[in-house]
Amino acid sequence: MNLLGIDLGGTKTSVCIGDENGTIRAARRIPTLASEGPESGLRRTAGLARALLDETGLDPARVDAVGISAPGPVSVREGLMLRPPNMPGWVDVPLVRWAQDSFGRPVFMNNDANACALAEYRYGSCRGTPNLVYLTMSTGLGAGIVLDGNLVQGATDLAGEVGHHVLDIRGPPCPCGQRGCLEIYCGGKNVADRLRARIVKDNARSAILGEAGGDPAAIDFRAFLAAVKKDDALALEFWEEYLERLAQGVGTVIMFFNPQVILMGTIAIHAGEFLLAPLRERVRRYAWAPSVAACRILPSALEGRIGDLSALAVAADGLPPRV
Ligand SMILES: [Zn+2]
Repeated sequence: MNLLGIDLGGTKTSVCIGDENGTIRAARRIPTLASEGPESGLRRTAGLARALLDETGLDPARVDAVGISAPGPVSVREGLMLRPPNMPGWVDVPLVRWAQDSFGRPVFMNNDANACALAEYRYGSCRGTPNLVYLTMSTGLGAGIVLDGNLVQGATDLAGEVGHHVLDIRGPPCPCGQRGCLEIYCGGKNVADRLRARIVKDNARSAILGEAGGDPAAIDFRAFLAAVKKDDALALEFWEEYLERLAQGVGTVIMFFNPQVILMGTIAIHAGEFLLAPLRERVRRYAWAPSVAACRILPSALEGRIGDLSALAVAADGLPPRV
């Protein structure tokens, strides 16, 4: 099969040509330039896809399907990207209609967490595991859930929004409007924002600031993690909270879905066992022992390729299997 994959992100957009087995034949990426709005972003994306088809000598008519992975929330049924929090102005964007008009081929789309779960199910280190959860661990925190071999979509395509599961109703306000969401404690952007606010407010001397080159605006999760490893007091205070809240969230996922494996993205890949070993220990306090024993918690092994593979997986999953 010839599949065209489009991985639309808040920062970068990647286009690839590949097949249903996850072989990527060619891929290119461009900055999304989200602030310039959807019309310009999608026109550049379509241009990139056409150039890639040209380069590889693939006649667009021979593309079996187009797969799109887009920041959530999305409406799969209506083919819309609804209102991604980090892409202001991209509201109710008709991605499926745009791709149909641009390429004249069948188009399938899903949100990025669901698309990543499909990529793990089809191509990952635990491929074929029927009960699998993928947790995005980057700017935000979301889950794609495969149960009994099927992606869980939900009534309005919002299944898996675990980042906005409320852990403490009296917790810090979350940009989503609730308080004490998992993502306000464990989303990479929120952790950096909360650390920055605390350091500025208290004029705190912390190694986090040093790791960010002395510029509060440059504080990110990487600077936080580096300061934790140096036993910085403020970093350790936040790390304790981060681990405990993440364990609470992951424990909930384990109790709700009884997965065989939870695969974790960006932050977990970067931090490795430094994060995963204490997380596995703490999860025991939030889920039954048999459920914890049945579930492996692992970093994704697809990092770097998961964006392209997730778009291919959405396309492959949309088409009826060939016999
Ligand atoms: Zn929230």
